[in-house]
Amino acid sequence: MPVSVLREIQDEMLCYPGAGASIMEISHRDKLFVDVLHDAEATIRQLLNVNDDYSVMFMQGGATLQFSAIPANLLRGSGKRAQYVLTGSWGKKAIKEAKKEGDVDVLFDAAETNYDRLPAELACPADAAYMYYCSNETIQGVQFQDEPSCPDSVPLVSDASSDFLCRPLDINKYGLLYACAQKNAGPAGVSVVIMRKDLIEKADPNIPGYLHFKNHHDNDSEWNTPPTFAIYALGKVARWLRDDMGGLEKMEAINREKSQQLYSVIDTSNGFYRGHAQPECRSLMNVTFNLPSDELTAKFISEAADHKLSALKGHRSVGGIRASIYNAMPREGVDALASFMTDFASKNS
Ligand SMILES: *Cc1c(COP(=O)(O)O)cnc(C)c1O
Repeated sequence: MPVSVLREIQDEMLCYPGAGASIMEISHRDKLFVDVLHDAEATIRQLLNVNDDYSVMFMQGGATLQFSAIPANLLRGSGKRAQYVLTGSWGKKAIKEAKKEGDVDVLFDAAETNYDRLPAELACPADAAYMYYCSNETIQGVQFQDEPSCPDSVPLVSDASSDFLCRPLDINKYGLLYACAQKNAGPAGVSVVIMRKDLIEKADPNIPGYLHFKNHHDNDSEWNTPPTFAIYALGKVARWLRDDMGGLEKMEAINREKSQQLYSVIDTSNGFYRGHAQPECRSLMNVTFNLPSDELTAKFISEAADHKLSALKGHRSVGGIRASIYNAMPREGVDALASFMTDFASKNS
């Protein structure tokens, strides 16, 4: 979370302007909150140029609920097959849930190289229910630079949980794009689902009510009580991106600089640091790398902590180090890590 947003929230914590109460205390039907929700939606639409062909919904259940909601709406009973592109841990979980709803093909699976790369080419059949991929695999640090190629007849579905709002994108290429907020866009508790409206009508109405996108769309994300505080905070982060950062192109430029700073330490370390992701699919958000031994990795983490650099341990499936440098990570944080890395390599190689 950007510090300036946290400060604003702090200022308004006891009394939301005009409410005489905290944002957490007023009804989700209160006009003040409905305005907050509409403003969050409008700001996200502005940032990503989302037109009226798309619905923007706020849901709970995290990204994980979408693993089930998407195939429940778009695969169950369709008589078609869903196509999944598997580039890391989150895609694997999505496939497991999709298989409960219907027939699934895995178009590409990078298991053989421990998920360090993207597909060179994809052959998605033109009659697929949808084609699904994860734009940034958070654990592996593997990010698509562009949308994978997908036939026009097939809705493209993306889990953008860990790179939502890190750069501009052309939403018109998507049937559905979703993200839980807590990686790059706000606090835990809310997910944003941007979905082409014609697809909303496709689902069998007998799927579980909460999973049915139509309920959320028709009721303006208030089919049941939405996560009001999380939507409020997400709206503030979106405004920060638009007003303070100057939009997603500027944010992307900063993200490129920040990540490049760390990748260049890796690349000039004479092999002391080894990046996990292949260079052409390195993530702007999650920089993953290994050290020559487990002992050095442990030493790196412990000495980094002495420099107030924390949360660097990589996921056990990849090992090593993962530096998550989301939008709100200031340049100073990246500077500090880069100089610590340089120093550590020279002392330990
Ligand atoms: C964190 C994450 C998820 C899971 O999010 P939850 O909100 O915990 O369900 C899914 N996909 C990606 C890419 C993630 O980074």
